[in-house]
Amino acid sequence: MDLDETLVHSIRKDDPMLDMVPFNWIGHPDVMETEHHWVKKRPWLDEFLDFAKGAYRIAVWTVATEDYAMSILDRIMDSVTLEFVKTRKDCMFRGSGYVKPVSSLEGYDFDDIYIVDDKPDVIDGVHPININMANLIVIKPFFGSDKDQELKETARELWSRYR
Ligand SMILES: [Mg+2]
Repeated sequence: MDLDETLVHSIRKDDPMLDMVPFNWIGHPDVMETEHHWVKKRPWLDEFLDFAKGAYRIAVWTVATEDYAMSILDRIMDSVTLEFVKTRKDCMFRGSGYVKPVSSLEGYDFDDIYIVDDKPDVIDGVHPININMANLIVIKPFFGSDKDQELKETARELWSRYR
């Protein structure tokens, strides 16, 4: 699982755009406060995790920094034991940004790995033959809408592929 725009959407507290955020963040039941960010959980996140943890081992790989990622994961994954968390230090800088060298993961059968990410272009094929691209689920990015249904749809999609 990716983190930003896949499981949560966050904004920096000092973001000059904060006043323009088109809904009420502060006081919203799904908005958490970290040291530097307001973080909104994606709708259906808890239900998605309840489903996923019963069927799969769940891991998170984000290009965000470790401090940032852990401060959020501590709050949203309290009922889930994660297989691993990989962050920016586990990414590679390529061209204009960070990529996740998912294909270099060792000890897993790639036919059994589903990747859920709103930015599939950051999944780096260091060893492209490793990745089963049919198992890459591109989720629409989450920018804070309460009407977002993508995690519900993703759970359905995973369930349809479950074997
Ligand atoms: Mg993302």
